[in-house]
Amino acid sequence: MIRPGSTIGILGGGQLGRMLAMAAAQLGYRCHIYSPEKDSIAAEVSAEFTSAEWHDKAVLTEFARHCAVVTYEFENVPVTPLAALPPDLLAPGTRALEVAQDRLREKRFVEDLGGRPAPYLPVDSDGELQGAIERVGAPGILKTRREGYDGKGQWRLSSAREVEGLRVPNDGLIYEGLVRFEAEFSVILVRGRDGEVRFWDSTQNVHQGGILAHSSLPAAPIVVEQVPEARRLAQAVAEELGYVGVLTLEFFATEQGPVFNEMAPRVHNSGHWTIEGAVTSQFENHVRAICGLPLGDTASVSPRMEMENLIGEVTGTAAQILTDPTAHLHLYGKAEARQGRKMGHVTRLG
Ligand code: AMP
Repeated sequence: MIRPGSTIGILGGGQLGRMLAMAAAQLGYRCHIYSPEKDSIAAEVSAEFTSAEWHDKAVLTEFARHCAVVTYEFENVPVTPLAALPPDLLAPGTRALEVAQDRLREKRFVEDLGGRPAPYLPVDSDGELQGAIERVGAPGILKTRREGYDGKGQWRLSSAREVEGLRVPNDGLIYEGLVRFEAEFSVILVRGRDGEVRFWDSTQNVHQGGILAHSSLPAAPIVVEQVPEARRLAQAVAEELGYVGVLTLEFFATEQGPVFNEMAPRVHNSGHWTIEGAVTSQFENHVRAICGLPLGDTASVSPRMEMENLIGEVTGTAAQILTDPTAHLHLYGKAEARQGRKMGHVTRLG
């Protein structure tokens, strides 16, 4: 067990790190944020901050020397420099990052465990795209294998004709068939150092322009029916990776059952509601898991809940939200609002 008072290192400095650090502080831990940005909204609520490049091995090693455990709030942390750190300092381990950082590897990994992604083919050059569209079918989505998030690095194609004139990076892509889904949902679990696994209720998630707009409970009946199968896959993924901490898998609920979309080896936006909506939040349970503490109860405290992301300019809406007695407002303290940027969220219970 890592004793309260110890320092938890967090790689990444955004809102997930901020909410993790706040949960860690409640349990008496200090957090040290490591991030390439000069300003970090996670560092604002943490004991220490190192701003350095991911590949700066000397600084990374010095940072790790003062941490009892090191975790991530961002899945695209390069894995190579992490090899310089003692492997048992990292929770979860780097294999989870390696799998989740590459859409192709992630899909193959999940297929090997019996999961079903959308039909897909790797595309490594312009010339391969036409063939991939013909074999997988259109409409579909061309995605970068690495580094895409919130709909970035994605191109929707309604027919093979649209390929002409399309300007995309010439390597490391994947073409997926468009899934006709009834709903989207996520499975969020926490796995302790002793292998115990707990799940939060699965919310129904609505995305707009590739960005999560809101998550709500109860989810539609089709989601509720498909959660057990999705949970079995998520648990198999966690076990295969020897995972410690919070893990998220996103799914499409279709007439043919749950279709795997992607995984995140970290706390997840569709789990922000657990701060007020569950007995123990995803953030607190992640801290408990990586510190070897007993896991907290993941039960929902209300059968009805909605979490809405506040995206872009929100200054005017914040005061309005606070007039609603059921609303719990979270603002991330980002200095500049930009289109598509997550500035905060609001959770309404009941
Ligand atoms: P991703 O970043 O891959 O999770 O994509 C963001 C969102 O785009 C998803 O949550 C879906 O709403 C949509 N999307 C991505 N891939 C597909 C697909 N193959 N079929 C249908 N919708 C998709």
